[in-house]
Amino acid sequence: MKLNVAIVGRPNVGKSTLFNRLVGKKLALVDDRPGVTRDRRESEVQLGDLHINIIDTAGLEVAEEDALETRMRLQTEEAIGMADVVLFMMDARAGTTPMDEHFAAMVRKAGKPTILLANKSEGKASDAGYYEAFSLGLGEPMPLSAEHGIGMADLYEELVKYD
Ligand code: GDP
Ligand code: MG
Repeated sequence: MKLNVAIVGRPNVGKSTLFNRLVGKKLALVDDRPGVTRDRRESEVQLGDLHINIIDTAGLEVAEEDALETRMRLQTEEAIGMADVVLFMMDARAGTTPMDEHFAAMVRKAGKPTILLANKSEGKASDAGYYEAFSLGLGEPMPLSAEHGIGMADLYEELVKYD
């Protein structure tokens, strides 16, 4: 059995960085066909004895600015719908923003098992943001640095509980 895991959150928190780290390579963000932009990326990954299907949500590669919010919301809803477990990511260096709260509300409403990731948690600059993350109502945040590979073993330990 394969566990569907969706990475969701506002733009720029580090979702694709985590996706690439889990997949172990950089996958193309944009479809080869001209004018076609792929918002959602999926890849099957073997983590130890855990077999997951990881889903990244992009949303930023949209030409028309006004379509962005709708597009991101639909895409995030779709990814949450597919997920057995949701990885909700926030940026602990930036703290929580209204957009984080907006996405967190969508995740809470879905009622799926959710792991709250406080990304960019390398160094002290993330301390205040880490504590702010509690206010998202998604449980205790897990510190992570997708870029530096910190917290990956803890993430695995959490995911394996849902297998
Ligand atoms: P996405 O829009 O949520 O997919 O975010 P990206 O993965 O594209 O990352 C947005 C920016 O955050 C990039 O400049 C990344 O290099 C940076 N970033 C991602 N993870 C980390 C991290 O753990 N620490 C720091 N300091 N920067 C990170
Ligand atoms: Mg991305």
